[in-house]
Amino acid sequence: MQRKTRKSTQHYVLGQPANFTETCLPTNKDVSLHYVFIRNELIASGNANPSKMAVAEKVASDIEAVWKTASIPTVTHKSVSNKVQSCVSKAQLVTKTSSCKRSKTDHQDEEFDKLFDICTCRCNLVEEKMCTCPKERKVPQLEVAFLLDQRGARRMIIGGIDVQVTAKNQSSMQRKRKFEAAVEREKLRATESTVSDVACFSSDERSSGKSDSDDPAFDVDATRMGSQQMRRSLPRLAAECDRFNISNRAGAAIVNAAFKGLGFITREDQHLLIDHSKSRRERNKSRQQACQQTSVNTN
Ligand SMILES: [Zn+2]
Repeated sequence: MQRKTRKSTQHYVLGQPANFTETCLPTNKDVSLHYVFIRNELIASGNANPSKMAVAEKVASDIEAVWKTASIPTVTHKSVSNKVQSCVSKAQLVTKTSSCKRSKTDHQDEEFDKLFDICTCRCNLVEEKMCTCPKERKVPQLEVAFLLDQRGARRMIIGGIDVQVTAKNQSSMQRKRKFEAAVEREKLRATESTVSDVACFSSDERSSGKSDSDDPAFDVDATRMGSQQMRRSLPRLAAECDRFNISNRAGAAIVNAAFKGLGFITREDQHLLIDHSKSRRERNKSRQQACQQTSVNTN
């Protein structure tokens, strides 16, 4: 095989293909050169003609790894991969420019020196101002200064691991995993059990005087996701529960049973299903309102 010389691999704007440094977020130039580097590696490993997609996928993973080290949230892998391909296409377009016209494209240097930005956040960040994106897309306050630097002067580098912050992040991740597992379990239970499992309970249970929170079958709201949660206010329910002095659990079960009988709650549609927590919240709210009303009347 004919050996490639440095001159033959040199890109006239970008330079030599290279693996990018992992101490700062890569620029468009770093990405383009890394692409060529990875492509050459794949060719050397026996894949004579690696597809653009395959190379871009590998490059995208490498870029994401660096961003992950910096703890900054990134767009989806597919978007990163697409962005890599479009960045490389631009670099290739410049390569194809004939040498006599190259002076006209020199301004593209600047473009290539900019950050290959795959951050989820598009807020107009300034150091004092927090990112206002939703939680999963939010740039951590600690990293805002670094991101701003990488988008601008690029003087900072990614340092070693901050033990305290890492411990905090890990425990937050653990909490998140636990929550997701609980949601999964609840979904599974919802598909396995029928509505009547929740709506009706045996007379032994009623007379046993167990506290509401003892019964896991009634902890529907604890893990049920927002879309299936009953959000409407039920002041009359609270008043009637108080009037007949029945437990939150009994109140919820009676409502569920009536709704089920009327066909408002089915196996597929359970958005009207309520549990003891809902009943308790409504009662507390109703009592507070009654107190306020009384104090207004007496004044
Ligand atoms: Zn933001």
